[in-house]
Amino acid sequence: MLNIDCVTVGPFQVNSYLVTCTETMKGIYIDPGSDINEVLKIAEKKQISIEKIIGTHAHIDHAEGVYKVKKTINVPYWLHEKELKNLESMPEIANGYGLPIPEVPEVDNFLIPNQNIKVGNLDFKILLTDGHSPGNITLYTLDKQTNKNHAIVGDSLFAGSIGRTDLPGGNLPTLLESIRSRLFTLPPDTIIYPGHGPSTTIEIETNNNPFLN
Ligand SMILES: [Zn+2]
Ligand SMILES: [Zn+2]
Repeated sequence: MLNIDCVTVGPFQVNSYLVTCTETMKGIYIDPGSDINEVLKIAEKKQISIEKIIGTHAHIDHAEGVYKVKKTINVPYWLHEKELKNLESMPEIANGYGLPIPEVPEVDNFLIPNQNIKVGNLDFKILLTDGHSPGNITLYTLDKQTNKNHAIVGDSLFAGSIGRTDLPGGNLPTLLESIRSRLFTLPPDTIIYPGHGPSTTIEIETNNNPFLN
């Protein structure tokens, strides 16, 4: 069965997710923000073996903790290739905000749209949900044990909102097309886990999201 722990961290209040297959206790750490301790503590307490770090995209709020996680538990970092520019610009962005300068981590594997990623017995499909940033991806899975659909969407779609498109590489028509063609085509009961704010569902956003109606 799938379990998702959400920990909201740092000045940008980013949602970091620890996604676990409860049969094998294998997990992935999605979007390590500025504070990584709470997620690592949860993993230790529940005896979850974190196998990889996955970045939905590499804006500083979603990637500033990656280097520290890699240093602490030595697991590979997976990211879409088009996010390298964002990743490499983190020190400059941090400087602009007056934040501590993060180390830029090495990317070990590039995420490829439509590829499948295994986490224990769970199978995630990578969907390209670009527009907020050029390589923002979504991890989608059907948990066969509960028959529930789950999608971790980065900063593409939020409860009642969408990602901003005014940052470098952002594009509003691209974002709207990504959401319509690759998220709104998922089963309506799919639970959406955004990069910021509360969870929602495809059905709720299809009916109510003011940016798509
Ligand atoms: Zn972002
Ligand atoms: Zn964000």
